[in-house]
Amino acid sequence: MKKSAFVNKAQIEEIVKTYPTPFHLYDEKGIRENVKALYDAFSWNKGFKEYFAVKATPNPFLLQILHEYGCGTDCSSMAELVMSEACGIIGKDIMFSSNDTPVEEFAYCEKLGGIINLDDITHIEAVEKSVGYLPKTMSCRYNPGGVFQMSNGIMDNPGDSKYGMTPDQIVEAYRIMKSKGVENFGIHAFLASNTVTNEYYPMLAKILFELAVKLKNETGAHITFINLSGGIGIPYRPDQEPNDIKIIGEGVRKAYEEVLVPAGMDDVAICTELGRYMMGPYGALITQAIHEKHTHKEYIGTDACAADLMRPAIYGAYHHITVLGKEDAPCDHVYDVTGSLCENCDKFAVDRSLPQIDKGDYLFIHDTGAHGHSMGYNYNGKLRSAELLLKEDSSVQMIRRAETLQDYYATFDCFEIGKTLNQIGKSV
Ligand SMILES: *Cc1c(COP(=O)(O)O)cnc(C)c1O
Repeated sequence: MKKSAFVNKAQIEEIVKTYPTPFHLYDEKGIRENVKALYDAFSWNKGFKEYFAVKATPNPFLLQILHEYGCGTDCSSMAELVMSEACGIIGKDIMFSSNDTPVEEFAYCEKLGGIINLDDITHIEAVEKSVGYLPKTMSCRYNPGGVFQMSNGIMDNPGDSKYGMTPDQIVEAYRIMKSKGVENFGIHAFLASNTVTNEYYPMLAKILFELAVKLKNETGAHITFINLSGGIGIPYRPDQEPNDIKIIGEGVRKAYEEVLVPAGMDDVAICTELGRYMMGPYGALITQAIHEKHTHKEYIGTDACAADLMRPAIYGAYHHITVLGKEDAPCDHVYDVTGSLCENCDKFAVDRSLPQIDKGDYLFIHDTGAHGHSMGYNYNGKLRSAELLLKEDSSVQMIRRAETLQDYYATFDCFEIGKTLNQIGKSV
């Protein structure tokens, strides 16, 4: 499928008059249409809820847009719990799916009334110590081990992942928690990431539904929700076929009717913790070409770097690039598109066929709406960019300012040198 940008060159030229590049730009219209389609695909399930994986795009303005449609938050750290709280997203709208959890975070989650999703059987005790009791509703993360494979060859390796409880442990965990007064139970599993196939959720659902029946039969636990977690992918590459959420929702419904309904479990709510699928395609990194370099290869240097978008540098991830204003020009040049870090992996594209790029051109780096800005870091003293929201009426709202040198030096503020850094930093 041809990948097209959700803004054009003229719009960017207008935006940069107020907000200089680089910045991440989010498409409000796309975000809203997508969340509506998700809820529509699962409307057959009365209790359906999406808990947006905050780590993908931790921005209060975006969390609030999703919350309008009923989405909660999937948090995994104190910072994410606090952000959810500040947005007014509290109580059972919080799913706390963390691992290797600092114990005080369990207590904070309980204080907000959130649902604790345990990554390990030993954390039952940690919660009791931290909270003082076991909350009435608890969830457990499941890891069946082995290899998880779908018919198109996509696979992941749960047996090699640090998350979740073994089949024996989860039965034991339910028994223990039930004996200690827990009344409502959830099951969670995340077995494959970025799956670009309609098969993943239905396959996962069947495994978890069968486990639910077994847990109910063996422990008598009242299972109230099953959490399919994240993992629905997006087509980063133009040759990939996007997922069809309607087909995915129907596939889960079929498994529900085959497994849960006959077991008398027709009131179980389905929930999800999607991150990438909710936000990925609706964000882009906008950066300007500021240098061209002709050595052993052809390089285009941009004003962004891996501090703004790390996925290419750390996973070699593909992010499609549109040169704005040259959407229909032939891709008759081959470039490495680079950032400015002193790391040779800081390249947004390697050996990429693109139209001729001239200094001053704006590049639209696709699909940065999830795990984009949020993964950024400050290596080499690079500052993370702003986040902007392209609203439905085409106006633009800044939803996070760009970092300044003062932000970078802030952790020296308890020292004398901190004042000097700040002073000089302000003047450059
Ligand atoms: C990262 C994560 C998600 C979201 O994953 P996506 O691939 O962005 O959908 C959901 N749940 C948990 C526990 C995660 O760690």
